[in-house]
Amino acid sequence: MNQKKVYIILLFLVINITSAHHTPNLNTIYKELNFSLEEVQDSIVIEAEQLVSIGENVLGKEIFLSKECAESWRKMKHDAMQDSITISVLSGFRSYNKQYSIIKNKINRGMNLKQILQENKLPGLSHHHSGNAIDIISNSYKLSVDFEKTQAYLWLTQNAHKYGFYLQYPKNNKSGIMFEPWHWYFKE
Ligand SMILES: [Zn+2]
Repeated sequence: MNQKKVYIILLFLVINITSAHHTPNLNTIYKELNFSLEEVQDSIVIEAEQLVSIGENVLGKEIFLSKECAESWRKMKHDAMQDSITISVLSGFRSYNKQYSIIKNKINRGMNLKQILQENKLPGLSHHHSGNAIDIISNSYKLSVDFEKTQAYLWLTQNAHKYGFYLQYPKNNKSGIMFEPWHWYFKE
């Protein structure tokens, strides 16, 4: 290895260590949002640390899930295909920071937090942090309640439980969150 390469590697290490050090934790995020972390403490979803890739989604973005969820997803997708059903994951794991940056972007565009929270969860409250939640699409590029009308959705309602996947927000769910036919969580 020549000296130049060593310097480049060292530079990368320094950058990585510094950025890791500056990663805001939930305390910092909530302080910046001016929102009480204590108020939501009981609902915090632990951020997954060990993730595996399931490849890219239709938009070319790499999707990560917990190992168990990924394995089960692969089986389910394969079996669905045997029944001529196409399903794919649009989004899987999302970090606290990613969730924060989604919110921050909307604040920067002039929305207030109350408006934003009707569309997005506070960092720490999304089940996508666990690596065990997936947003499923069939022949579409975006999430829609119309997913309910697809053969893929019908197949999922009949088969997903065999692979440990459940609809998190069914119609008229107790949490008061709107019906999300695309959002499934994995339970071992
Ligand atoms: Zn979701």
